[in-house]
Amino acid sequence: MSIFNIDVMTLFPEIFSLTMQIGIIGRAIKNNIINLKCHQIRDFAKNKHRRVDDYPFGGGEGMIMMAEPIFQTFEHIKIIRQKTPYLIMMSPKGKVLNQEIINRIRNFQDIAILCGRYEGIDQRLIDEIVDEEISIGNYVLTGGELPALVFLDTIIRTLPGVLSSENSFKHESYYNNTLEHPQYTRPQVWHNKKVPEVLLSGNHKEIENWKNQNSFKY
Ligand code: SAH
Repeated sequence: MSIFNIDVMTLFPEIFSLTMQIGIIGRAIKNNIINLKCHQIRDFAKNKHRRVDDYPFGGGEGMIMMAEPIFQTFEHIKIIRQKTPYLIMMSPKGKVLNQEIINRIRNFQDIAILCGRYEGIDQRLIDEIVDEEISIGNYVLTGGELPALVFLDTIIRTLPGVLSSENSFKHESYYNNTLEHPQYTRPQVWHNKKVPEVLLSGNHKEIENWKNQNSFKY
């Protein structure tokens, strides 16, 4: 099984540390299905105060992340991975994430993710090294770290060996252009509401029919 290598470039690697330890992603890392590394962009700022941002030319609000520290971070990643990963930048200007994008990107073996902060990143860096910009929705967040976690979470759960059964995600919402049927667990009656009878029937064919009928095309 090939390992999925992921390198994240960020000013806040600590945002990723909890997710990397727990749940399905934590287990995928422990089981060596993915190799996820976070790189602190500030470590690659060679200037005196390890500055990573500066004022925008032409004026305007806020600060802009400088090209060079990010460029040097990516150079470092290229050296340790001994290849050039496919570089995705989280950006509100990117393509809005959907299952189609996820199914395409999960076929890569090496990806890197660039998380912006402040008012964004010097366009020359984006033009020079970024392969694709991805947004998690038409609204603006304070940084690319939460979008990167959303993106990584959804990619990682579809990798072979991550969920106990591939069926776990193949039957789920969006995978086959459908939305998943409603789900129920114990107890059979809760607040006077009963679980649909057919689900208790043990009749696999009828259960399958019910599930299909209750999965909606979107
Ligand atoms: N000034 C920019 C917004 C910068 S927000 C603009 O108006 O387009 C700072 C960073 O947060 C961005 O560089 C990006 O990495 C991240 N970000 C914000 N909203 C996002 C979204 N909807 N999807 C993905 N990344 C986002």
